[in-house]
Amino acid sequence: MIRFNDQATLADLIGAEASRLVVEFRRDLHRHPEIGMETFRTAEKVEQALRTLGVEEIRRFAGTGVAALIPGERPGPTIGFRADMDALPIAEETGLEYASEVPKCAHLCGHDGHAAGLLAFAAWVMRHRRFAGSVLLIFQPGEEGYAGADKMIREGLFEVYPCREVFAIHAAGKSPLGEIRVKPGAMMASVDVPTFVVEGRGGHGGRPHQTVDPVPAAAELILALQTIVSRNVDAADSAVVSLCALEAGDMKAPTVIPARVSIRGTVRTHDPKVQDLIERRMRETAEGIGLATETTISLDYARVYPPQMNDPELFAALEPVLAERYGRERMTTDFRPGMGGEDFAFMSAAVPGIYIQLGIDDEDHSAPLHSPKFSFNERVLPMWTDLFATILRARLPLED
Ligand SMILES: [Zn+2]
Ligand SMILES: [Zn+2]
Repeated sequence: MIRFNDQATLADLIGAEASRLVVEFRRDLHRHPEIGMETFRTAEKVEQALRTLGVEEIRRFAGTGVAALIPGERPGPTIGFRADMDALPIAEETGLEYASEVPKCAHLCGHDGHAAGLLAFAAWVMRHRRFAGSVLLIFQPGEEGYAGADKMIREGLFEVYPCREVFAIHAAGKSPLGEIRVKPGAMMASVDVPTFVVEGRGGHGGRPHQTVDPVPAAAELILALQTIVSRNVDAADSAVVSLCALEAGDMKAPTVIPARVSIRGTVRTHDPKVQDLIERRMRETAEGIGLATETTISLDYARVYPPQMNDPELFAALEPVLAERYGRERMTTDFRPGMGGEDFAFMSAAVPGIYIQLGIDDEDHSAPLHSPKFSFNERVLPMWTDLFATILRARLPLED
């Protein structure tokens, strides 16, 4: 395989007209960001751009999710490529000419660039149909905590379009331009949100014997929950229990014992078995401390995202291909998985998948993701497009 030419422009790869369309599309999205599942305008812009490129089969899932199918020259399996397209409820401070026009809302995780990268790939596929099978382009809303991927799957994404495998790229702020970060197994953590409610019986702070005080019970509970990671989870596994929010009583009523205390936090791990263990121990601990303190402790344990797991076989098949195309020196395959969550985890739990982080940092771009100064680096778009194209060529070759 020929080595990727770093000097290649997007126009070299997909033509001047499509290249202009992609960059304009990205800047327009950046100027008009939308949050969560409410990416109505964004989804319309995606459809419009796909139609301009000549893509015919376009369908909606979960309201604002867009899926587009491009068949190759010969029949064969379908493989999916996913981009997220939602913004964050944070005010932008980039000073860009096309900065967000929506107050307290901006594309600070690079999803405008992700959608543009997938669109550029669509343009490439339309010009290179010599593959056996079909390409499914998935533009998903609600990555930032809304489980948009899960919603699209629940609405039948993989029933209408069964995929053999799925791929996604996320911009890596604070990684050098063109660095490929990918590894087998866990890449990102599961995200669970436990909510405890400690119910007692409120009353006068001077006569606690006439009450069932939920405050010391909650204090015991919080300390006991800290022992799950230190005493129950295998020291070689990764796990975090952080109880971040606490609601009890009233600061203006220091003499009143409240009737209830609420506690909410986040649980993260890279192993579904550890996830099960933590939930089970949380329930047992809540029950035991409830019994000991005469309170009733309920637990609502919400599983928001599963861990992002890269399929080991798919990784083994792809790693040498990427190394040959981009050079092994550009690839980082041995690193600790992140403790952040990633919605793509739902897709790669449903079908074998690979999630890649692609470095976008250079002299003009060096802010971390989610920072008000972050902006996606358009200079990565040629490699972004080529990376998807390289995966497609490797996975759906046209046998002569
Ligand atoms: Zn993000
Ligand atoms: Zn993101």
